[in-house]
Amino acid sequence: MDVSRRQFFRICAGGMAGTTVAALGFAPKMALAQTRNYKLLRAKETRNSCTYCSVGCGLVMYSLGDGAKNAKETIYHIEGDADHPVSRGALCPKGAGLLDYVHSENRLRYPEYRAPGSNKWQRISWDDAFSRIARLMKDDRDAHFMETNATGVTVNRWLSTGMLCASAASNETGMLTQKFVRALGMLAVDNQARV
Ligand code: SF4
Repeated sequence: MDVSRRQFFRICAGGMAGTTVAALGFAPKMALAQTRNYKLLRAKETRNSCTYCSVGCGLVMYSLGDGAKNAKETIYHIEGDADHPVSRGALCPKGAGLLDYVHSENRLRYPEYRAPGSNKWQRISWDDAFSRIARLMKDDRDAHFMETNATGVTVNRWLSTGMLCASAASNETGMLTQKFVRALGMLAVDNQARV
């Protein structure tokens, strides 16, 4: 075979590149033989409760990101928490589909406010939302708090505002919620579980 000087250098360069790639472990046979990495291998685990209903099943959420400032965390797998005393790892279909809920475009991620008479919601900061809630509660309580009833019996109650709580809250959160609302004199307290 006649090989020109230029062709000779091309053949040598190609051969060296192939040898180097194979030496680095990129030979197709070796690559195909490698086992797939376990998908949760480098995940960060976070425990939580399902948000859907009052059963409050336990979850383990797996996310990427090591907590570093520039690392963007994203949840990519959710499963039942086998150590959870209520659900012991089980989830119903709604809970098993929580990953779609977490990443849903329709999920509300920040407080919104609709002014009286307006048909539009506007985004506000969490500070603004908390300040507004506190202001409205204070004003309403000052205006409607009853120390005694019509017969003069001390009642110390506030009937014009109620609170809707989360049924999936822990016992401790539930106790603090009760203490908070009862200390204010509020009687209307409810959640979706009616407990
Ligand atoms: S997994 Fe199902 S049963 Fe459990 S809390 Fe969520 S919605 Fe309720």
